[in-house]
Amino acid sequence: MSTTITVIPGDGIGPDIVDATLKVLDKAGCNFTYEFADAGLTALEKHGELIPQQTLDLIEKNKVTLKGPLTTPIGEGFTSINVSLRKTFNLYANVRPVLSLKGTRARYDNVDIITIRENTEGMYSGIGQKVSEDGTIAEAMSVITREGAERICRFAFELACKEGRKKVTSVHKANIMKSTSGLFLKVAREVAKEFPEIEFEEMIVDATCMKLVMDPSQFDVIVTTNLFGDILSDLCAGLIGGLGLAPGANIGTDAAIFEAVHGSAPDIAGQDLANPTALILGAVQMLEYLGMAEQAGKIRDAVRDTIAAGECVTRDLGGNAGTQAFTDAILARL
Ligand code: NAD
Repeated sequence: MSTTITVIPGDGIGPDIVDATLKVLDKAGCNFTYEFADAGLTALEKHGELIPQQTLDLIEKNKVTLKGPLTTPIGEGFTSINVSLRKTFNLYANVRPVLSLKGTRARYDNVDIITIRENTEGMYSGIGQKVSEDGTIAEAMSVITREGAERICRFAFELACKEGRKKVTSVHKANIMKSTSGLFLKVAREVAKEFPEIEFEEMIVDATCMKLVMDPSQFDVIVTTNLFGDILSDLCAGLIGGLGLAPGANIGTDAAIFEAVHGSAPDIAGQDLANPTALILGAVQMLEYLGMAEQAGKIRDAVRDTIAAGECVTRDLGGNAGTQAFTDAILARL
């Protein structure tokens, strides 16, 4: 029986990289049925709202969604669509792996890090966001709950066990943010005790940035709060050659959304310049989530070999191929 996936083409470079990804999935013999839905600027223009109810219904019905990047219009009254989706479906774990690929122009060739970012709390709680009437004081509240910290830390350790990883680093700023980051760290220490086979390390976020840039090979799995995870995962993407290579999975108990870490890249939209790798690797995460390891491995190998060969790669990887030609090269290897 064919599994049905909700597909959101999204904005900017979204439709092009989603199209490339679906071709790759089909060529690898995944046999999915796709139901398409609008969100973001595209949805606002077509339906008058950023996330139409029919899109929410499809995400809920099919449980698994592949999503292109969404543009959040700048200005008051628009909360981030991605943050809304993560909260609506309680997608508490944001899993962002980065792995060095031969043939990129990255500074390192030995990076293999998974950042697990808490996806629903912290500075992204959206609580208490206000500016005083005279416009001189701005406020935002960060909320960390024991329950939220516990489930993300447990998720990180369980993933480490499942994937044969050796170490989990809990990244925090508990020396300054004693209540919120302090609670997160306390809970991480408690959860770590349940997993004696995994080495546990705790590290302050600023030192983590420095150490990641100096020697990323010392990191394995990182677990951290929402804002730190957002920043660190982009830093990690930079270590392997840029945003065009970094995928991300948003996982909850009842639904999951797979995407690229990058945004809609309006500066290169519609020019056949986007690198589809990040979203294709997001689809690989989706296949692993669905227990389709064979197809996941085939696609990962084809992407890796195409980039390593270097003959037909996109501009961000030092080549001059367009999105379509690069995708064709991957399809040929499949
Ligand atoms: P961005 O990630 O879209 O682009 C940053 C830079 O990276 C740009 O120079 C862009 O050309 C380049 N880039 C990104 N993806 C690339 C790819 N696949 N291939 C080659 N180059 C690529 O960030 P931004 O410009 O700050 O944000 C644009 C919009 O995207 C904003 O509206 C933002 O809210 C949204 N956004 C959405 C998501 C998401 O949907 N998950 C994530 C981040 C940003």
